[in-house]
Amino acid sequence: MIPKDTIDKIVDAARIEEVVGEFITLKKRGANYLGLCPFHGEKTPSFTVSPAKGIYKCFGCGKAGTSVNFIMDSQQLSYPEALKWLAKKYGIEIVEREISVEERAAQTEKESLYIVMQYAQRYFTDMMNNSDMGRSIGLGYFIERGFTKDIIQKFGLGYSSEDKYGLSREAVKNSYKPEYLVKTGLSILSNQHVEGTPITEKDIFDRYQNRVMFPIHDTAGRVIGFGGRILGNDKKMAKYINSPQTDIYDKSKVLYGLWFAKKAIQEKDNVFLVEGYTDVISMHQSGIENVVASSGTSLTVEQIKAIHRFTSNITVLFDGDSAGEKASIRAIDLLLEEGMNVKVLMFPDNDDPDSFSKKVTAEQFQDYIANNRQDFLAYKTRALFNETKNDPIRKATVIKDIVQSISLIPDAIIRSVYIKECSTIMELAENVLQQEVNKLRRAKGIKGEQKQEFQSAEVVPEFIEEENQEPIIADSEEKELLRLILHYGNVIIAVEAENNENEAHELDLTIAEYVIFELMRDEISFLNPIHQMILDEYVHQLQEGNLAEFNYFKNHLNPAISTFAIEMASSTSELSEKWLAFGVIVEKEIYNLKRSVTHTLYSLKEKRLGQMLKEKQDLLKTAPEEEQEGILREILHLSKVKINVNKLLGRIVVK
Ligand code: ATP
Ligand code: MN
Repeated sequence: MIPKDTIDKIVDAARIEEVVGEFITLKKRGANYLGLCPFHGEKTPSFTVSPAKGIYKCFGCGKAGTSVNFIMDSQQLSYPEALKWLAKKYGIEIVEREISVEERAAQTEKESLYIVMQYAQRYFTDMMNNSDMGRSIGLGYFIERGFTKDIIQKFGLGYSSEDKYGLSREAVKNSYKPEYLVKTGLSILSNQHVEGTPITEKDIFDRYQNRVMFPIHDTAGRVIGFGGRILGNDKKMAKYINSPQTDIYDKSKVLYGLWFAKKAIQEKDNVFLVEGYTDVISMHQSGIENVVASSGTSLTVEQIKAIHRFTSNITVLFDGDSAGEKASIRAIDLLLEEGMNVKVLMFPDNDDPDSFSKKVTAEQFQDYIANNRQDFLAYKTRALFNETKNDPIRKATVIKDIVQSISLIPDAIIRSVYIKECSTIMELAENVLQQEVNKLRRAKGIKGEQKQEFQSAEVVPEFIEEENQEPIIADSEEKELLRLILHYGNVIIAVEAENNENEAHELDLTIAEYVIFELMRDEISFLNPIHQMILDEYVHQLQEGNLAEFNYFKNHLNPAISTFAIEMASSTSELSEKWLAFGVIVEKEIYNLKRSVTHTLYSLKEKRLGQMLKEKQDLLKTAPEEEQEGILREILHLSKVKINVNKLLGRIVVK
């Protein structure tokens, strides 16, 4: 492990304009530098580098970060690897910290598994290239399928021989532990092994026999698994055997091909999703590199998140079959739900991307993709609707189905665009569709959309206001409070407080103390886990006597936290912009700090109260009669408090 002070030294030395300047040409623009973004193809520069803040930000694709992030992203390195890269550039020596016995045990075991996997990958490739059977059967198979030597090499393809003990014996001979061969899934434990005794060479045999081998990489490029395909078309045998779930291979998180696709996905700001190994490889051979495969299993949320880090645009490639069937695939709903923009593309007849690519030239293949992809929801609407034109009952079912898909889209604006488009296709009034979508979202209890049906006249006006608003999670308030304490944590303000005798008096507090005090008093924690993590660490540091500022979090080991801090430094405050409308002069923020802090705190509290109110109302709907009165009373109380907070807020704003 790299010691903390060495990390600090590297981070200090690695001036952002120098590091970025190694890779792209930067021109000075005032205090900043400007260049062409290396992460997405662009013709006019929107990539800015701020030496003062030590960060870069692209206003085209939104990528932002520190020197370390830049090296991680552009060179596809892990955090420690990026630090080492920078250390080398700046001639800083790294003496790695001794790690604890447990740390080392866990680390070395994992490291060992990676090393065994790397060995196996080389073994299979070697077997394919340098054994008679390997060349004639293994390599022969790939060549037969039209893969070039270059592509075979790029993907590290290989061959496992017919020998049941081939890899297992050879690996043990080369001092790889039988235990690790089992833990990687390369070897299988025979039932002659006695549980509890050490695993020996005699206890294991190869998982893969007489198959062509596709190594599976993680996003750092390490081999973590294999897919092995039979050589013929024997219907009785499993066509593919894949590695089992292991300590280094979590199937639900890995997508085949992502390691080879990362860069291209960023550049194209789009990813193609295909079904199999061979589809990925063939597409690369046709010059399309932003492609990943789900490897036959259904897509998981974690896999979607893994690609969402690089792009929000996905094109799902289907082999040609019934259009309606493709329109109802659950994985696509999952993509919509995760906020991806989904396009689809069908191949003619029974072709998959692999077989189709072999029938046409690379150029024709690329043209086909460019010209035939369509937006998923429009496609779905058309496909389903055309099948049911004259059948009113089926038509109703189809509308429901489409409404269901649209309702999954998290972004309200995108939703409404689709409502418009799909209502045109279905010749349906837009507001009818809108209502159906709203109904469904409400029924699912999607936050902030529950209709308030309420009996008590005293409370009603409060609720009507809140209808159709964004979810009341106070995300921007949380963010703003963090921004304020990170920037102005040690600024002292005078706050009104009450002593034990309820007498008001002024108290000098730092902004950090004031915010933390107010949050703790009302037992408010942040709903966004990243926000809460930062707050926790901030409080902890404060208790240790350190004022953690923006820089502290900017270089945080947890990439979610550092990304957040960088975002915060490079964007202007969302709320400040809102306040402009109220006539608060933002440029002179420092003079308005007390007002800013108080306003944000109360605005957060107000939203929290709103949330509590909604929860109580939901409770009321299902509560047994004898409990209803109690809940109703709580609701009245909460809404009064809320009105008071609102008045307070009004005063603060107007003053
Ligand atoms: P090929 O072109 O070599 O026949 P393919 O990729 O077209 O391969 P499909 O039958 O379309 O194969 O299956 C798609 C993917 O599903 C495969 O690439 C593989 O990842 C996975 N798969 C297929 N069959 C199996 C199986 N029997 N066990 C596990 N995974 C499988
Ligand atoms: Mn195929």
